[in-house]
Amino acid sequence: MSDAPTPKPAAQAAGRAGMKKELPEHFKAYRHVWVAVELERGQVHPVSFELLGEGRKLADKLGVDLAGVVMGPPGEETNQAIREAFAHGADLAYLVEDPILRDYRNEPYTKALTDLVNAYKPEILLLGATTLGRDLAGSVATTLKTGLTADCTELAVDADKSLAATRPTFGGSLLCTIYTLNYRPQMATVRPRVMAMPERVERPIGRVIAHPLDMREEDIVTKVLNFIPDGQSNKVNLAYADIVVAGGMGLGSAENFQLIRNLAATIGADFGCSRPVVQKGWMPAERQIGQTGKTIRPKLYIAAGISGAIQHRVGVEGADLIVAINTDANAPIFDFAHVGIVTDAVRFLPALTDAFARRLSPHNHDKLAG
Ligand SMILES: Cc1cc2nc3c(=O)[nH]c(=O)nc-3n(C[C@H](O)[C@H](O)[C@H](O)COP(=O)(O)OP(=O)(O)OC[C@H]3O[C@@H](n4cnc5c(N)ncnc54)[C@H](O)[C@@H]3O)c2cc1C
Repeated sequence: MSDAPTPKPAAQAAGRAGMKKELPEHFKAYRHVWVAVELERGQVHPVSFELLGEGRKLADKLGVDLAGVVMGPPGEETNQAIREAFAHGADLAYLVEDPILRDYRNEPYTKALTDLVNAYKPEILLLGATTLGRDLAGSVATTLKTGLTADCTELAVDADKSLAATRPTFGGSLLCTIYTLNYRPQMATVRPRVMAMPERVERPIGRVIAHPLDMREEDIVTKVLNFIPDGQSNKVNLAYADIVVAGGMGLGSAENFQLIRNLAATIGADFGCSRPVVQKGWMPAERQIGQTGKTIRPKLYIAAGISGAIQHRVGVEGADLIVAINTDANAPIFDFAHVGIVTDAVRFLPALTDAFARRLSPHNHDKLAG
């Protein structure tokens, strides 16, 4: 594996030529692209569909199949996950079904996935960089003794068909492209919302290859005694919100974040903030947007008092429309915002909220409709 700032493609090939050994004979049979479909408590995490979209492109470039890997308890949940994998681009699916897989636990899921890899030999294996995916990817990579590139922002196949996995490095100020040249599979994780959601196309379920887990409950150290859902977990859905309003240090105080909440409530948005705001304790960590927070892809992103540092930018540049409010006309956020408003956000936000409230009020709506 190598870890260096992204060079030009020609330099990449030349630079790697010295490092690349002949792929060991036993890895030469590894083919096809796999995406681990994250299924938890009956729900497929949407990042799995984003990865299937990305995996489809890699598989087409390599001229191989794209497979969805579904692991879970027997029943309709796994069937549904398989159906969705095909609807999001998979050519086939691998299935490990066992009651032991009802709740996520590292041991049985690691065994299920490593057994599948050893039996069917994929060249690329992608997982979501979720809490579950990070846990599983790390243990699968170490068990298989292969390379894993975490939190990728770009995946590509280079001229000699190696996976080029790009991710931020040095605090986000540089991008590096990492290769797993001498081991298989080449593994990567990608955070939710970093890749675009592919179109869902209803298709019949194709080939499904079932594989046994071959594990007994007595062999597993971890026991799930109870499941207590996090009361907050469904309240913050920043990554998948259509409209997001966020505030930065330019708002000046914790109290002024009420202006962000007010605007968000008025226009049906979710709200977030930059990292120093979390560090100040003005907002909880789950509201942080950016490289070390959430990646968002809303239709509309309104950023108030945020400078637009690269670590913030990487988390928001997938938004369709970015509106920035900043007193400094030279703030970096104006380099990538679609609409820039140079003004004091503390004064502007209440006026904007008020304007939206009037525009969106049912009374006004009747008038507009009439
Ligand atoms: C490893 C690493 C990871 C990081 N991860 C993240 C991350 O995930 N997310 C993130 O956001 N940052 C992250 N950062 C921090 C990042 O580098 C910036 O420091 C941070 O984004 C700046 O936050 P800010 O824009 O709110 O504050 P500042 O940089 O202080 O900018 C405040 C802005 O508000 C403007 N302003 C001032 N007063 C007003 C006003 N009254 N009205 C309107 N505008 C006003 C100023 O002109 C300025 O542009 C990370 C840094 C590192 C090193």
